[in-house]
Amino acid sequence: MSDYKAVIGLEVHAELDTASKIYCGCTTAFGGEENTHVCPVCLGLPGALPLLNEKVVEFCIKAGLALNCKINNYSRQDRKHYFYPDLPKSFQTSQLDLPICYDGYLDIEVNGQTKRIGITRIHIEEDAGKLIHGLTGTRVDYNRGATGLIEIVSEPDLSSPEEVYAYMETLRQVLLYTGVSNCKMEEGSLRCDVNVSIHKEGEPFGVRTEMKNINSLSAAKAATAYEIKRQKQVLEEGGSLFQATLRWDDAKGINYVMRVKEHADEYYYFPEPDIMPIVISPEKVEAIRATLPELPKARQQRYKEQYGLSDYDANILTVSKALSDLFDQAVAECQGPAKACANFIMGDITRLLNEEALQPEEVPFGGKELAELANLASQGAISSSAASKVVEMLFQPEFAGKGPKAIVEEQNLGQVSDQGAIKAMCQQVIDANPKIVEDYRGGKKQAISALVGQVMKASKGKANPAMANQLLEELLGS
Ligand SMILES: [Zn+2]
Repeated sequence: MSDYKAVIGLEVHAELDTASKIYCGCTTAFGGEENTHVCPVCLGLPGALPLLNEKVVEFCIKAGLALNCKINNYSRQDRKHYFYPDLPKSFQTSQLDLPICYDGYLDIEVNGQTKRIGITRIHIEEDAGKLIHGLTGTRVDYNRGATGLIEIVSEPDLSSPEEVYAYMETLRQVLLYTGVSNCKMEEGSLRCDVNVSIHKEGEPFGVRTEMKNINSLSAAKAATAYEIKRQKQVLEEGGSLFQATLRWDDAKGINYVMRVKEHADEYYYFPEPDIMPIVISPEKVEAIRATLPELPKARQQRYKEQYGLSDYDANILTVSKALSDLFDQAVAECQGPAKACANFIMGDITRLLNEEALQPEEVPFGGKELAELANLASQGAISSSAASKVVEMLFQPEFAGKGPKAIVEEQNLGQVSDQGAIKAMCQQVIDANPKIVEDYRGGKKQAISALVGQVMKASKGKANPAMANQLLEELLGS
């Protein structure tokens, strides 16, 4: 069973973060009352003429450059015909043989190994509308129709569900960093089709199936694992596979057959006569290249070299551009080690974002505040538990506009490093916890951390824990 090899390719659709749609001035805002973000052009009414949004072309070039692609200086749009109610024109304006970008790659990391995945092409096209299935029938909402998309087609270079996950995660990061898409998978802004076949070493490629419109990283991984297993099982049992389009049901964890394909490609295309060919000058490409931000890989390298951060820390910090930017701003103003700023981001800030269901872009304070907090902590002016409290307060609206220093003063959170005061608290804790003291004296040296914990509690998190630890040891005569 294990001698089968999987061959996997991905087609990723990313909705572009342009203000207006691809051929008209309608807004691309998510949601809205049904069929209110529409006009004769994006409804495909007879006689309405499209006008290509230049920003769509720019974003496609930008994504292509970030993915190491070559850019076609002459590109064209084509009509891809298929009949479905979510497509009012009965064809989708897309690109066939002259895509804007081609021949790129993306390096991914799986189990500590770097693997290069080829990018065959990136082309622009329009999104379809949305079908809404109700009790009384099905309605169509064209608000999303004709929003600009890029389709990123990979080479079949992937060979495991883990690689599919890593590819999607890395690609999502690159698209977020370049700002071409908001990549909100829950709103359908990023979705992928996964092609899977299996074969034995030395034998020709197997029959391919395609899973459409998967909209989360974990679903892409689970669907791929399921499909590889299913294909193996069919072949092991002596059955044969057929080319099919499948739909992944994430709740049930299984694939359904949507339709069986008789030919590899059942669409027919012809050149779009209503839109001029796209001519892209080398100067334009270079101007767009100059706007590319530092990408995650380069940032990780810099964090390791410049600040001595570990691989793990550098990876976590760059998952989101917003958090990575926050880190860069904080480090620029922080007098202490960069690691102190990193710890706040990876610890308290990430925890609070999760608890409050906020996006990384929504951290309610900036690098200056974070640097101030890291300085207070590394100078020993506040304890680590007080620092956590300050971060919590910075997330609350009633502390808006106040910096960490002001909060520490106002809330009286400064760390107590007054030896006499802490010593008195230590003695009280020793008197109140004879059992723990006995354990400690009996040789259970780790029991002291329970006593330090009691001192921290008694001081409402303000005692200097290192000092408390030292004083307790002294008082207990060790
Ligand atoms: Zn429109």
